Amino acid sequence: MSRQILVTGGAGFLGSHLVDLLLKDGHNVTAVDNGITGSWANLAHHEGNKNLEMIDADVSLELPDFGQLDQIFHFASPASPKDFEPLALEILAVNSKGTENCLKLAERTGATFIFASTSEVYGDPLVSPQPESYWGNVNPIGVRSVYDESKRFGEALTMAYHRGKGVQTRIIRYFNTYGPRMRIDDGRVVSNMIVQALKNQPLTVYGDGSQTRSFGYCHDSARGAILLANSSYHLPVNIGTTFEMPVVDLAKLIIRLTKSSSGVEYLPAAPDDPKRRRPDLSTANRELGYEPTIGLEEGLLETIEHFRKAV
Ligand code: UDP
Repeated sequence: MSRQILVTGGAGFLGSHLVDLLLKDGHNVTAVDNGITGSWANLAHHEGNKNLEMIDADVSLELPDFGQLDQIFHFASPASPKDFEPLALEILAVNSKGTENCLKLAERTGATFIFASTSEVYGDPLVSPQPESYWGNVNPIGVRSVYDESKRFGEALTMAYHRGKGVQTRIIRYFNTYGPRMRIDDGRVVSNMIVQALKNQPLTVYGDGSQTRSFGYCHDSARGAILLANSSYHLPVNIGTTFEMPVVDLAKLIIRLTKSSSGVEYLPAAPDDPKRRRPDLSTANRELGYEPTIGLEEGLLETIEHFRKAV
């Protein structure tokens, strides 16, 4: 069945991969983006596709009239820690006012609302792996708080519209996602290190590199959102991979895969940097039949190809 679907942040890194999959499934998609960190170049390969409409707008402000909708994926938000200081107010706005604007639209149209939340709601977690039942360990006034707290607020708002207004809602908690279309100057570890390796510059490791992350490939992440949207499960669901690795090992892997002559340079640790992060995926597995399909080496090789063309 062909649906009318709105994707906010549709020109962004993850949003554009989601738009690709939705179009492939035969839906009519409206992508809205204000270009703050996204780029319409990410959807340029759909030029002329009548099933895709692209709208330049800031969803934190008033929403344009999108007509009848079946699903609203709210994926708009800067997401790289590098953006947390320069775009602090924009991040707070899009996850609070932007989320409420989309929820009101869902209430009006009867659409299902899907909120792209984050593993950052767990902060610097004191339990590992992190199940959805974990309440988190967030510094409410630290440099990361604009992202962490606004996503937590977005989740609270989503649950309030679910409980109080009967809106069909879904919440995804994304763990670190990487892949083609990350910005070259995005600042996140995968893009930084691949670009550095391709330029034979030292790979920057913040702190001692023992902090861990679990890296999920963008196609798997986008597919997880679609599975969740089409399920009837309204509580938060972690999406990512359970393969956890120290950041310094990621640097070594990227040097090997790029055949780079780069070494590693240690820089001061980022403030409030979570020491470990790994999803408990049992809910995604049980409720959605979700399993990641792309292994880290395979996904990194795809991403390296993307950056070879860009650097
Ligand atoms: N990091 C790093 N070097 C970089 C960029 C990031 O060592 O050039 C570290 C960062 O301190 C963190 C991890 O890599 O421990 C992941 O950082 P990223 O910014 O990708 O996302 P986060 O998981 O912190 O949201």
